[in-house]
Amino acid sequence: MKSEPEPLPPTEPKEASASAGPPLAETPKRRTKRPMPPLPPKPEGPDASVLVPTRQGIIRMRGKTDKGRRWHQETDLETAVTLVRELAAIVVNRHTIRRIYSNKNFRRYILTRDNYTCHFCGEYGDTIDHLLPRAKGGHTTPANCVCACSLCNQSKADRSLDEFTNSFED
Ligand SMILES: [Zn+2]
Repeated sequence: MKSEPEPLPPTEPKEASASAGPPLAETPKRRTKRPMPPLPPKPEGPDASVLVPTRQGIIRMRGKTDKGRRWHQETDLETAVTLVRELAAIVVNRHTIRRIYSNKNFRRYILTRDNYTCHFCGEYGDTIDHLLPRAKGGHTTPANCVCACSLCNQSKADRSLDEFTNSFED
C-alpha cells in the first residue's frame, strides 16, 4: 500500500484570531418613567364640551394633507373630544373639528419638541411612539405621542407605557 504522506499538522497552534467582531447591537441603557414633554399652548377656540354629533350621529373632521390638500371625513364624538383635549384638533363649530397637523407636520413637531431624544432611554431617537398604542385606542396627538429610538419603539410594540416600563423594573 502506498502511504500518502500525511499533511503536516500546522506547526503553530492556531491563533485564536477571533477578533472582537462588530460591537453588539446597543441595548437601551435605561428605561425610566420620564416626565411627559410639555404640551403645546392650548389653541384658541371653544372647548371640546361644546361638541355634539349631527343628526347622523357623527362629528365632521377636516384637515390638510402634507401637500396642503384639504380632506374631510367623519368621526365619532368620543374620538373628536379626545383629539381636541389632547391638542391635535380644534373645534370649528359644534359639529366640526379641524386637525391641526398634517402627518409630516406632526412628526416634525414631536421630534423637535422632544429634541430627537428617546422618551424611554434618552438616546437619539427619530420615530414617533404612541404611549397608549393605537391598537388600544390611543390617538395620534401631542399628549399621546413621544419621540422614541427605533429600539425602544420596537421593544415597546403594542404594550402600553406602564406595561413597558414595568417590564424593566426589578
Ligand atoms: Zn430608546
